[in-house]
Amino acid sequence: MSNILTLIELSGTGAIRNTAPALLAAAAKLGTPVAVVATRPGAGVPLAAELGELGAAQVYVAESDQVGSLLVAPEVEALASAAVALEPAAILLAHSVEGRDVAARLAVRIGGGLLVDAVDVRADADKIVATHSVFGGAYTVEAAVEGGTPVITVRSGAIQERAGSAAGTVTTAAIEADPGAAAVIDAVHDAVVSSSRPELRDASIVVSGGRGLGSKEKFELVERLADALGGAVGASRAAVDAGYVPQTLQVGQTGTTVSPQLYVALGISGAIQHRAGMQTAKTIVAINKDADAPIFDIADFGIVGDVFTVVPQLIDAIEARAK
Ligand code: FAD
Repeated sequence: MSNILTLIELSGTGAIRNTAPALLAAAAKLGTPVAVVATRPGAGVPLAAELGELGAAQVYVAESDQVGSLLVAPEVEALASAAVALEPAAILLAHSVEGRDVAARLAVRIGGGLLVDAVDVRADADKIVATHSVFGGAYTVEAAVEGGTPVITVRSGAIQERAGSAAGTVTTAAIEADPGAAAVIDAVHDAVVSSSRPELRDASIVVSGGRGLGSKEKFELVERLADALGGAVGASRAAVDAGYVPQTLQVGQTGTTVSPQLYVALGISGAIQHRAGMQTAKTIVAINKDADAPIFDIADFGIVGDVFTVVPQLIDAIEARAK
């Protein structure tokens, strides 16, 4: 079977980010999953057992003192080096800020073809085919690379399968990125974590509120339901523009794309630009007082009603079940 490389992203503390299991599962559908991790010398090998558990047959540890001091260049170098050594049939990355940056640079570097924001991948005869949800989720299209190695970014949450555990055999390589072509990291400041809620992009449950909430104060109802369900908070652009929440919580075409197990839309009409960011959610629940709101066209479960009447009852019911 052909090798399929996956870029394993690490947090600031060196932990494996939660995009890894889906990437390794996607790789397992296509061939032999190889985890590629760029670390400072000595920091990568201890991650091998965990990566093996997640399905990596091989762990390619690319070591360099530049990791943490050059932005994305070491990761590009790590994948380029692994590509030379292992001649993969495809290279998979998370569709994260870092993954997109690395993918584009890598595709140029190795003369590969870039396929972005895939919601699924499959092997078809001699080709690797990526599935994309486009035009606001209105169409599902497939794409393949003609010539060159496919470099594919995979939407977070879109692939639910998980690979069985594998050997996680370690190969270590020393790499050196060209510092002239990279942005230098001068300092790292920890972002102040103001919430214990999951990150919007990766959350398995997202509760979003729209203009129907009416004010910043009343938007608190969205947060209460999100907390009752253990989910992340999202919002429509109208809610963001009205100042109910910061832009970082916007879901949609010009916000974050999410693909959770459960998406709850409160007081959101369901404009195409909003749907573009959430239509691939596995289950969509909508609460809206307008029975003709377009959000009901894509909802699996819809409640026609006032959010201020329905949601408190929903929270009470969820809390009662949790007791
Ligand atoms: P509205 O369309 O005003 O809908 C509010 C809904 O709340 C209505 O359906 C109403 O029936 C319901 N409601 C009111 N009160 C209650 C109540 N008490 N109980 C229950 N229901 C109630 N939008 C995004 O969301 N994300 C994007 O990324 C995005 N990008 C855009 C990019 C471009 C280029 C453009 C042109 C637009 C973009 N938009 C985006 C805006 C989008 O077109 C819509 O304007 C926006 O999504 C509407 O937000 P909304 O559903 O909250 O508001």
